[in-house]
Amino acid sequence: MANRSAARVASSPITRAVRAGLGADTAHRAVMPPIHLSTNFFFDAPGVYAKYDYTRTANPTRDLAAETIAELEGGCGAVVTSSGMSAIAVSTRLLSAGDLLLAPRDCYGGSYRLFSAEANRGGYRVEFIDTWDPASLEVARRLRPRMIWIETPSNPRLRITDIAAWARMAREIGAICVADNTFLSPVNQRPLAFGADLVVHSTTKFLNGHGDVVGGAVVAADGDLLEEIAWWTNVMGVSGAPFDSYLTLRGMRTLHARTCVHEANALRIVDLLDRSDIVTRVHHPSLPDHPGHDTARRQQSGWGSLVSFELRGGRPAVDAFVDGIEHFALAESLGGVESLVAHPWTMTHASMDEPARLAAGIGEGLLRLSVGIEAAEDLEADLKRALAAADRASARAWRVPAAQR
Ligand SMILES: *Cc1c(COP(=O)(O)O)cnc(C)c1O
Repeated sequence: MANRSAARVASSPITRAVRAGLGADTAHRAVMPPIHLSTNFFFDAPGVYAKYDYTRTANPTRDLAAETIAELEGGCGAVVTSSGMSAIAVSTRLLSAGDLLLAPRDCYGGSYRLFSAEANRGGYRVEFIDTWDPASLEVARRLRPRMIWIETPSNPRLRITDIAAWARMAREIGAICVADNTFLSPVNQRPLAFGADLVVHSTTKFLNGHGDVVGGAVVAADGDLLEEIAWWTNVMGVSGAPFDSYLTLRGMRTLHARTCVHEANALRIVDLLDRSDIVTRVHHPSLPDHPGHDTARRQQSGWGSLVSFELRGGRPAVDAFVDGIEHFALAESLGGVESLVAHPWTMTHASMDEPARLAAGIGEGLLRLSVGIEAAEDLEADLKRALAAADRASARAWRVPAAQR
C-alpha cells in the first residue's frame, strides 16, 4: 500500500497527522481513508469476535481519529468521545465515592458545573484551588487528593499552571494528574511529556478547528488507564460519532499549519492591544510581565491564540467595542479558523455569581478573543476601529454626570 514506504522513514507527529490513514483503503485503493458509518459489522460465526462488531464499542474511522490524537499528544492511546464534557465525565469515572478531586478555581465553566453536581450527589468530593499559585502545591498535597485537574492556560484570564510541578506531586502521593489541553492543543503543549497521566480535549476547539463539530478525547499515558477509560466510554455510551470523528481527523491534518497562522496573528494583536490607551490590561503569556511567562516558556511551544484584555470605560465601552467589530463574531467557543470575541461577564461565566466572577478576576470590562486565521491586516484594522468606538463611548459615559449614569 501507499503508506508502506512512508512507514519506513521516521516522521514527526505533524507529518503523521497530515498523512493519517492514507492508503488504508484496501477495497478501492483510495488515497484518503474512507469513512465507516456502519452501526455494525459481520460476525464470521456465533461467538467469533473480530476487531469491530458494534460502533459504540469500536469503529475504524473513530479509531483513526483516536490514534492521530494519541500520536500528537505522545500518549499510548486515546478514546474519542461525543463532546469535551463527556471526555471529562469519563475521566472522572476513575474516582470513587469519598475520593477527593482537586480542580482549578477558574476551570472551564462546564467542568465546574459537572464536578460540583457530582460532588453534591456524593459521587466524589471536590475542592477548587488556585493551581496557578505555586503556594497551593503544599496545601494540595496535604489534602490527599485522588485526582488533580489542571487547565493551563486558564479561561479567560490565561493563568499558567506548572504542569511538571503538579504532576510530580501527584505521582508522589499516588494521585492521577489530568490536564485539559483544549486551550493550546498538542502542537503548543504536550502535558504527558511533563508527567500528566491523562490529557482531555474538547476537540470542538483547535483539533477540529472549523467550528462544525462538538467532540472530545481522552489520551492516556499508559495502557491500564487507557483500558479503563475505553471501558467507561463504551459502558456510558459516549463514544464519538464516526462522521464527527471523520471531520475531526480532517481538521487535524491542518492543525499545525493553522496553529502557525493563529499564533502569528495573535502576537500582532497582543502588540496592538498592548499599545492602546483604552486597554488597561492585556492577558497573554507572551508578555514578559505576565506572571506565568517563564512557566509558559518552559512548557509551551507556542504562546497560544487566546487573548483577553480589559477595557477602560466599563460596560458602555464594551458595548461599543462589540458593536463596532466586524471580523470577530460575538460568540462562545474558541479555536476555530474564524475569529471570535466573548464577554465572559455576560456569556461564558454568567452562571458564576458576581463575587465568584470578581474573585476569579473576571470584571465587566474583560473581553476574550479567539484569534482566527484571517489576514492579520484585516483583524488589526477591525480592532483599531472597534477600540476607537470604545474610546468614544467611554469619553461620552464620563461626560454624563455621575447622578444620571
Ligand atoms: C469547550 C471546553 C470544554 C467542553 O467541551 P465541549 O466540547 O463543549 O463539551 C472543556 N474544557 C475546555 C477548556 C473548553 O474550552
